Amino acid sequence: MRVGVDVGGTTVKVGFIDNYEIVDRLVVETKSETLFSDVCREIKEYANKKNYKIDGMGFGLPGHVVGTFIDKLPNVGIEDLELSTIVSKYFPDLKIYCTNDANAAALGELLADSNKKASAYMITLGTGVGGGLVIDGKVRDGDHSNCGEIGHMFIDYVHNYKCTCGLNGCLETVASATGIVRLAKQYYDKFETKIKIDKCSAKSVIDAAKEGDPLGLYVLDIVSDALGRAISVIELAVDVDTFYIGGGVSNAGDILINKINEYYKKYAHFAVKNINIKKAKLGNDAGMLGAAYLW
Ligand SMILES: [Zn+2]
Repeated sequence: MRVGVDVGGTTVKVGFIDNYEIVDRLVVETKSETLFSDVCREIKEYANKKNYKIDGMGFGLPGHVVGTFIDKLPNVGIEDLELSTIVSKYFPDLKIYCTNDANAAALGELLADSNKKASAYMITLGTGVGGGLVIDGKVRDGDHSNCGEIGHMFIDYVHNYKCTCGLNGCLETVASATGIVRLAKQYYDKFETKIKIDKCSAKSVIDAAKEGDPLGLYVLDIVSDALGRAISVIELAVDVDTFYIGGGVSNAGDILINKINEYYKKYAHFAVKNINIKKAKLGNDAGMLGAAYLW
């Protein structure tokens, strides 16, 4: 049995996986100081209770990781940690594998959707924007373990908002949940809108757009334009047939996916006009499934 671990800020999701199916799961609530030892201890106890034999363990981590060395997980508050030293205290002979959470999710979506050796790109639209690349069934981490950091691609020349990374005009300054709220506030005075700006969230803007609200539609148009352009650039570099759009913002559904497709076609090179850009379907399970097939 394979174990896939999807690490979040305080909640860690563990999937017990057999033949590409999550057959059992465990959620570990923890805190950063003891996160990995708590997770390992609980997995060990649970596996013993259920008589599971674990063949390998993979981790999807929200930050920068090189091999099994954790450089930095900004939202978890963990850095400079060799993960294998902790895991080996609980599982002495077990091989472990790590990647960025967006890469793990990309592989999970691909495994659930099509043939196991295919290639695909996944874009995760959450608080920020992440990306993950799978080539011939293998996650591509990159020579600097920075493959897929497309949230910081210079895309928005119009607003040129300052990004948390220090650069300006990054994709995630407009195409994330945070970006959607920022845009709604910027254009609030220009439209008749039902959006309550003091209680504005990405979901409220998207819901308004679905009902035809002019401000909601205007913001969604900017977001889709940015994503369509970003995908047209990524596609020239990686040439895959499928892009999955996941993360909380993707729950906007068809209205967002259709508009991204529309803008993609506008910006795409003629040889790659007809690729698939679709909504990710596994949701929160993608990271666990992908992490379990890193080897
Ligand atoms: Zn940035």
